[in-house]
Amino acid sequence: VVRLDGICKSYGADPVLQDIRLDVFAGDVIGIIGPSGAGKSTMLRVINQLEPHQAGTLLIDGQPVTSTMPTRALAAVRARVGMVFQGFHLWQHMTALQNVVEGPIRVRRQSPAQAHELGLRLLAQVGLSSHADKFPSQLSGGQQQRVAIARALAMEPLVVLFDEPTSALDPGLAAEVLATIADLAKQQVTMLVVTHEMSFARRVANRIVYMQQGRILEQQPTDMFFNEASHPDIRAFLSHSH
Ligand code: ATP
Ligand code: MG
Repeated sequence: VVRLDGICKSYGADPVLQDIRLDVFAGDVIGIIGPSGAGKSTMLRVINQLEPHQAGTLLIDGQPVTSTMPTRALAAVRARVGMVFQGFHLWQHMTALQNVVEGPIRVRRQSPAQAHELGLRLLAQVGLSSHADKFPSQLSGGQQQRVAIARALAMEPLVVLFDEPTSALDPGLAAEVLATIADLAKQQVTMLVVTHEMSFARRVANRIVYMQQGRILEQQPTDMFFNEASHPDIRAFLSHSH
C-alpha cells in the first residue's frame, strides 16, 4: 500500500529523516514509537506529502509520489491518505456530519444524499450517531477526535495516519478514541499510529517501528519487539514508558 525506500529529508542542514525504509501492507497496523524529535511526525508528513522529501522513493499504491508532480495528481494521492492529528482540526462552523461529508461531496463528487448516508454510517461506527448535528464546540475532545476519524474514513483512504491522536485528551477520553482505533484495526483498516501509549501499541499494532534520530532503529512484529528488542536505547525507552 505504501513503500518508503531510502527516504531522506532535512530542514536546512539538519537531517531529520535518514534512509527510511518501510513497507506497509493492506491491513497493517503499525505502531510508530520513539523519543521526541526522532522524526515520527515528519515521516507521516512525508507520506501524505505535507512535506517534500529530498531523496529516496515514496510509493503510494504502487505510484511514485513527489512534490514536483502535477498539483492535481498530488491532490489525488493525498485524497487516498487519511490523516488524524493530535489537535482535531475540525471545521468549527460545520456540524459533525458536515465535517464528515465535506470531502466525499467536494473531492469524491458524491451526491449529498449518498454522502449523508455514508457520513451517518461512519458517525455510527465511531459511536456518535446521536451527535451528528452538533458543532465541534458542543462535543468533548474525545468526541471531536472521533469525528476527525470518521472524516478521514469518509475518503475511503488506502491508509490512515495518526499522529499522537490521544495526547491532547484526558485519560478517559483518550480511552474512547483508542477503543475506536482498535475497532478499526479489527476491520482491517490499514493504519500508521504514532503513539506514546505503549500498552495500546502492544495490544493493537501488528508491527512496531522504533525511530531515533531520524532513523528506523528497529522494526519488528509487535510481540517480538516488546519481548526481544535488545538495543540498549530501546530497552531504556521501554523501561521509561508504560
Ligand atoms: P515528538 O515525539 O516530540 O512529536 P517527533 O518524533 O514527531 O517528536 P518531529 O516532529 O518529526 O519529531 O521532528 C524531528 C526533527 O525535525 C526535530 O529535531 C525537529 O526539531 C525538526 N523539525 C520538525 N519540523 C521542523 C520544521 N518545520 N522546521 C525545522 N525543523 C523541524
Ligand atoms: Mg511528533
